[in-house]
Amino acid sequence: MNIMKVKTIAVLTSGGDAPGMNTCVRAVVRSACAYKIKVIAVMNGLQGLIDGDFHEFGPRNVSGIVHKGGTILGTARSKEFRTKSGRKKAAKNIINAGIDALVIIGGDGSFRGGHELNKDFGIPFVGLPGTIDNDMYGTDFTIGFDTAVNTAVQAIDKIRDTAESHHRLFFVEVMGRHSGAIAVESARAGGAEMALIPEVKTDLNALIKSIREQKDAGKKSAIIIVAEGDDAGSATEISEKVYKIVGAKGHVCVLGHIQRGGHPSARDRTLASRLGNAAVKALKSGKTNVLVGELKGSIAFTPVTTVVKKKKKADLKLEQLARLLGT
Ligand code: ATP
Repeated sequence: MNIMKVKTIAVLTSGGDAPGMNTCVRAVVRSACAYKIKVIAVMNGLQGLIDGDFHEFGPRNVSGIVHKGGTILGTARSKEFRTKSGRKKAAKNIINAGIDALVIIGGDGSFRGGHELNKDFGIPFVGLPGTIDNDMYGTDFTIGFDTAVNTAVQAIDKIRDTAESHHRLFFVEVMGRHSGAIAVESARAGGAEMALIPEVKTDLNALIKSIREQKDAGKKSAIIIVAEGDDAGSATEISEKVYKIVGAKGHVCVLGHIQRGGHPSARDRTLASRLGNAAVKALKSGKTNVLVGELKGSIAFTPVTTVVKKKKKADLKLEQLARLLGT
C-alpha cells in the first residue's frame, strides 16, 4: 500500500475481552490523531463491521479509559463473519466509509477473520494481540496476560491461607482451553505445588505420589493449578478422580471469568500503549497483514499467515521450575 493513501483507519476489539484492550484503543486513536489520520471506532468487534456500527473518534473519546478493564468498544464472537456473505457486507461498509485499513485487537481467531476478509475482498489490516491466553505466535506476551496472572495469583494467595490453616488439598482451575500459560505462570508466582496443563499429559498416579511424598516431608497443604483444558479433565473432575483413587478429598475453586476483568496491570498498559502506537506507525509506513508484537523487548512484525498457522505453547521449563520450587 502507498503510505500516502492511509487517511482513515478503523479500530475494533474482537474475541474474548482482555484487560488492556482499552489502553490499546486509546493508543491507536491518539497516535492516529497525532499523525493526522482519521479514526473510526467499530463497535462489537467483527460483527460491528457487518452492522456498520461506526463512530468517528478523537482524542477526547478515549479519555479516562487507560485503567479500565473490558473494552469500551464492546466485543463479540460473530457467526456471521465466518460466512463469505457476512464478510461481503463488512467489506461493503468498510469501503463505503472510506476506511483504508483496520486495526484488529484480539486473539488468533480474530486475525483469522481479518485474514479471510483480506483474502476475499483485499481489506488491509494489522493485528494487535489482545487476549489473556498468551498463546499467540509472534509476541512474547499478549495484552491482558499479565493482569490475568496477577488476578489468579491473588486468588491463590488467599486460598493458601485457608489451605494451610485447615491442612487441605486444593485444586484451583484457571483459564486456558488450549494453553497452560496462565496455569504455569500463576503456579510459579503463587508457589503452587504443581500445574496441570494441556501441553503435558497428566498422570494422576504420579500426582498423588507427589502429594503423598510432600505430606510425609511435612507439607501441611497443597495447591494444584489446573488449566481448564487439561487432558485429565476439569479441576472438579480431577478432584473426584483423586478421591476415588485415594479417598483424599480435595477442595475445588474455579476462578472463571474474574480472570478477565479488573484494571490492567502497569505491564499490560505499557505493552498496550507501545503496540497500539506501533500498529499505527506500521500502517503509516505501508506495512499490512502483520501481527504487531513484542519479541525480546523489541517491536516485531509477523505475517498474519504465519500467526494463524502456528501456536505458541506454554514454556515447559517454567512448569518444571514451578514443580521443583513447589516441593
Ligand atoms: P480469544 O483468544 O480471547 O478467544 P479470539 O480472537 O481467538 O480471542 P475467537 O472467538 O476465536 O476469539 O474469534 C473471534 C471472531 O473472529 C469469531 O467470533 C469470528 O467472528 C471470527 N473468526 C474466527 N475464525 C474465523 C475464520 N476462520 N473465518 C472468519 N472469521 C473467523
